[in-house]
Amino acid sequence: MSAIENLIANTIREDVRNIASYHVPDASGYIKLDAMENPYQLPDALRAELGQRLADAALNRYPVASYATLKQKICAGLGVPAGYDVLLGNGSDELISIMATAVARQQLGAEMRRAVIMAPTPAFVMFSRSAQFAGADFVGVPVKADFSLDLPAMLAAIEQHKPALVFLAYPNNPTGNLFDADDMVAIIRALGETGIAVVDEAYQPFAKKSFMGRLPEFPNLVVMRTLSKLGLAGIRLGYLSGDAKLLEQFEKVRPPYNVNVLTQVAAEFALDHLEVLDSQAEMLNAERARLAAELAALPGVEVFPSAANFISLRVPDADKVCAQLRSEKVLIKNLSKMDKVLANCIRVTVSTPEENTAFLTALKASL
Ligand SMILES: *Cc1c(COP(=O)(O)O)cnc(C)c1O
Repeated sequence: MSAIENLIANTIREDVRNIASYHVPDASGYIKLDAMENPYQLPDALRAELGQRLADAALNRYPVASYATLKQKICAGLGVPAGYDVLLGNGSDELISIMATAVARQQLGAEMRRAVIMAPTPAFVMFSRSAQFAGADFVGVPVKADFSLDLPAMLAAIEQHKPALVFLAYPNNPTGNLFDADDMVAIIRALGETGIAVVDEAYQPFAKKSFMGRLPEFPNLVVMRTLSKLGLAGIRLGYLSGDAKLLEQFEKVRPPYNVNVLTQVAAEFALDHLEVLDSQAEMLNAERARLAAELAALPGVEVFPSAANFISLRVPDADKVCAQLRSEKVLIKNLSKMDKVLANCIRVTVSTPEENTAFLTALKASL
């Protein structure tokens, strides 16, 4: 082995050496329907105003450490219950990692096992990745064939593994469905004083349903959201809310200044114009209904209900469909290999009417 290979073998964790990097395909020249981005930009007048605000930002200074103004705008504008604060992350990806790190205990005595982080699967990939990197064990509990929660299996797994964290994406990614709220409450209650339930509401702008207002009912509930799917994926801002004492613990793990000045300024600006982003979400929801109806009319295609800005569907041959769409310069996500419940499933982001029609045309040709 070369010197650098020896160095890596001697220093880098084996589990890290053995995994593949998170793969993001090069999308230049493609219609990009693989990452749940909002296709719309802010209107020109607002972009010009934002440009001025960004030009005035104090890039020579560290961000104001309290992020008080931004937090206040999030709490006031996004339905955080009175008396509750938020923790900010560089995307909700970072918040997932912060929570995983906070629960992954390091001193393991005779009685103490590694912490367990749990989620119904298939799930958002960062749940298991963050658990692994933090040094916790990830336990996935398969959903049923219709992608709903297998509540008895979840409760049995909670009883057996005593997870410190359970992630419930509401709606779930990559399936798009909302889990039954009563099932989720049963899980939150079963965790009680031994586990934290994180309801991941990344798609809340499209789903409308939320557990945010129910925070006061459950001290072990955390609700996490992001501005990414709403139309600001590029600025990387996630937030979560929960009991103040719990947030105080997560806060210790958060890197100081994790939200940069440009993000802070852009997010504050966007929150002052939330109605623009909300109306874009309305347009996307209308297109979701149109796309779902047109897909459902195609022979051999099974469309799954979605409360998010994407639709999951089953096709006769997902590999063939994805390859052919790719050759037509349309990028979607092949879910087939992710989980056996997703055999021959693909996921497409809901976009502009033109891009959705381009997808439909290319899909029809590939079936
Ligand atoms: C997209 C997504 C996220 C990540 O959001 P960022 O804020 O962009 O890091 C989190 N959870 C789920 C379920 C998602 O689909």
